[in-house]
Amino acid sequence: MNIAAQHVVSIHYEVKDEDGVVVDTSEGRDPLVYLHGNQNIIPGLEKALNGLAQGDGFDVQVTPEEAYGELQDGLVQSVPMASFEGVEKVEEGMVFTAQTQGGPLQVTVTAIEDDTVTVDGNHPLAGKSLSFKGEVAEIREATAEELEHGHVHDGTADE
Ligand code: ZN
Repeated sequence: MNIAAQHVVSIHYEVKDEDGVVVDTSEGRDPLVYLHGNQNIIPGLEKALNGLAQGDGFDVQVTPEEAYGELQDGLVQSVPMASFEGVEKVEEGMVFTAQTQGGPLQVTVTAIEDDTVTVDGNHPLAGKSLSFKGEVAEIREATAEELEHGHVHDGTADE
């Protein structure tokens, strides 16, 4: 069986950023399981896996556009300290969930100056080229229910 749309695919993988720093890996964990052709994973990786068979290795460079997108200046905002009501001490690196017009957005505090806090809603890996290296662990047909839902049922997720 080769990877195609409507297959459930398990992969072991390691992701490195442009500096060769490992940003994510399945080592020591269960493989990543996803429904192929449903945008469950980043487009560049999904494209590279298409047609591979069980046991095949992959080693692919993915541009920001095909990974987590380019950095968007509009997602960096200055907000008054007073908007962090109930937070004892706001510090750089803290992550909050902000309510936006587009729904909840994870933002990271990147700077604090007096009573002004700069928050960045870009994905931590936005603007970065990533390299994915790994191996296809398993491929199976998706069930009718999985196809209907557009995601994998593996007994652990919120199905
Ligand atoms: Zn479901």
